[in-house]
Amino acid sequence: MSWNERQRRMLAAMGLRMFAPAALPAAPAAAASPADAGTAVAERAVEAPVARVAAAPVPAHAPVPAVAPPRAPVTPARAPAPAPATAAPAIAAVADAAFAERAAHIATLAWGPLQDAVAACTACGLCESRRQTVFGVGHAQADWMIVGEAPGEQEDLQGEPFVGPAGQLLDQMLRAVGQSRRAASGEGREDDQAGDPARRVYIANTLKCRPPRNRNPEPDELARCEPFLKRQLALVKPKLILVMGRFAVKQLLKSDDAIGKLRGRVHRYEGIPVIVTYHPAYLLRNMPDKAKAWEDLCLAKATADGL
Ligand code: URA
Repeated sequence: MSWNERQRRMLAAMGLRMFAPAALPAAPAAAASPADAGTAVAERAVEAPVARVAAAPVPAHAPVPAVAPPRAPVTPARAPAPAPATAAPAIAAVADAAFAERAAHIATLAWGPLQDAVAACTACGLCESRRQTVFGVGHAQADWMIVGEAPGEQEDLQGEPFVGPAGQLLDQMLRAVGQSRRAASGEGREDDQAGDPARRVYIANTLKCRPPRNRNPEPDELARCEPFLKRQLALVKPKLILVMGRFAVKQLLKSDDAIGKLRGRVHRYEGIPVIVTYHPAYLLRNMPDKAKAWEDLCLAKATADGL
């Protein structure tokens, strides 16, 4: 596809510089050299089907480079300009780039700056209704990392994951396999390095902000929050991950399968063993499945002990 002057002006107004010649010769099958890559990427971005825009994560709240809406070209009154059909894919390309840049930046953060970035996050609409962000709790080098879904009312109030009724059940379950989020008394000051990392877990959620009225997380919210959880996982470097609930499973294992189908075997996240189990809030409503959750914890312990 070649670039006409109107397209060039429109993209320039959006801060996009295209390195394509004004009229390309017959399209090459692939970029011939690294220098050609920019052209190939630019062409793909502009030729992408418009439908992609709906699927692309356009960061309404994210601090992305400002993208000015394209100005309507000045045309004579009797010759209205056709709709700028190429604008939407180009805007989606800018949004994609900003999204990837944000994720790459988060992937470099140490604990302190990561916590600050979560606290200041405005990447999705949940920042408007949260009381506070809920970062994570436990030993920063724990052998076990627990991944839950999203803060509820109590977590939103207290700023710590799993402190409501589901959290109390989680603490009981963890105690039963010799694990705890807190350092035992006498193990030193309660901080993220106190105590034995083999017996102290780290707990984090897929979402750091409470969805209003505890509704299910939206795919877009999960996508925008994912870099934070990924970084927490990279910093903790757990030997075992226990994933609780459908949305946590979806985020970590990229699977839509039911918990019942996934539990009972060892999965992998970047090489780390992952055990899937029911969410404690579900167990509070479905007591008979507690026996299955107990089996899952035993599998987690056997897997961790066998490493
Ligand atoms: N449910 C979760 O998944 N996480 C919490 O922090 C609380 C409830």
